[in-house]
Amino acid sequence: MAASAQSARPRPGGPRPDSWYKLPKLSLAAGSVHVMKVLTTAQVLVLARFALMLVEIALVRAHLVRGRYTVKDTLASLGMRAGNYATNIALAGATVAVFTWIYQFRLYDIPMSSPWAWAAIVVLDDLAYYWFHRFSHECRFWWAAHVNHHSSQEYNLSTAIRQPWTGVLVGTWAPWFVLLLIGFPPEMIFLQSGLNLLYQFWIHTEAIRRMPAWFEYLFNTPSHHRVHHASNPRYVDRNYAGIFMVWDRMFGTFVAERDDDPPRYGLIHNIETFNPIKIAFHEWAAMFRDVARARSLRDFAGYVFGPPGWRPDGRGPTAANLRAAAMRDGAEA
Ligand SMILES: [Zn+2]
Ligand SMILES: [Zn+2]
Repeated sequence: MAASAQSARPRPGGPRPDSWYKLPKLSLAAGSVHVMKVLTTAQVLVLARFALMLVEIALVRAHLVRGRYTVKDTLASLGMRAGNYATNIALAGATVAVFTWIYQFRLYDIPMSSPWAWAAIVVLDDLAYYWFHRFSHECRFWWAAHVNHHSSQEYNLSTAIRQPWTGVLVGTWAPWFVLLLIGFPPEMIFLQSGLNLLYQFWIHTEAIRRMPAWFEYLFNTPSHHRVHHASNPRYVDRNYAGIFMVWDRMFGTFVAERDDDPPRYGLIHNIETFNPIKIAFHEWAAMFRDVARARSLRDFAGYVFGPPGWRPDGRGPTAANLRAAAMRDGAEA
């Protein structure tokens, strides 16, 4: 413990003392609370998220706020987060290597010390997130990883930590390569994308109905993200932004939550399991089953890279088909 604390201290002129993707120690901790000295910012944030989850559970149990928690579902989300940590750590070296390799082809040298650079990356990282997220819903190859996050039929703070195991393997980092080529350093991208995910933690709740109108217009909120987690035809594959809702308004994917159409959380076809391994791999298994019966290259491409639910006859339960059917039935008027 002492040795690692020693090695984390910066040395003037020496090599970087710590890995890029580790957050710095909390400077606030110095001389104040002893326990803070041995915790990194990341660890404090993990504990803060658990504390908020416990607060939400207590408020839901006391019927003071809306929400639903069941033990099995919450444990499944914790299991998914554990596996997500493990795969991220196992693949961290490869991720850093790929980012570093691409960074050498950058157009500009953007300094991390510039406040303008930080202002720019807050916006551009979220734009990259929008496209990562949209592709993750509209292309089955990426959906097979991202579906993990949508597999719960509950919606609470524990849903936020239900994270995929195979995202890094299938290259869902790709939209951020543009930022590397512009010249944002990899460590800046890792830090900002972490902050983006941190922002998204609090929006996974039914406890907050609506934020002020100006906030709902500009930012992602619990209301907008409830829509994103819903399988109602009106809501499915909508509201992809991480922080700034303006992307969905600009690109035509925004839908507001309606009180007369409450969200039904989960998937179009729910998988009815709390087993993290099944949650992590069920869509991969389904894809391999479909590919095995593909009769042409077109079928193969459709099953792997088409939208989730794609079928060769064009009548599969895709988001577009479900929305069109609901419109025909008058349910979406
Ligand atoms: Zn999503
Ligand atoms: Zn979410």
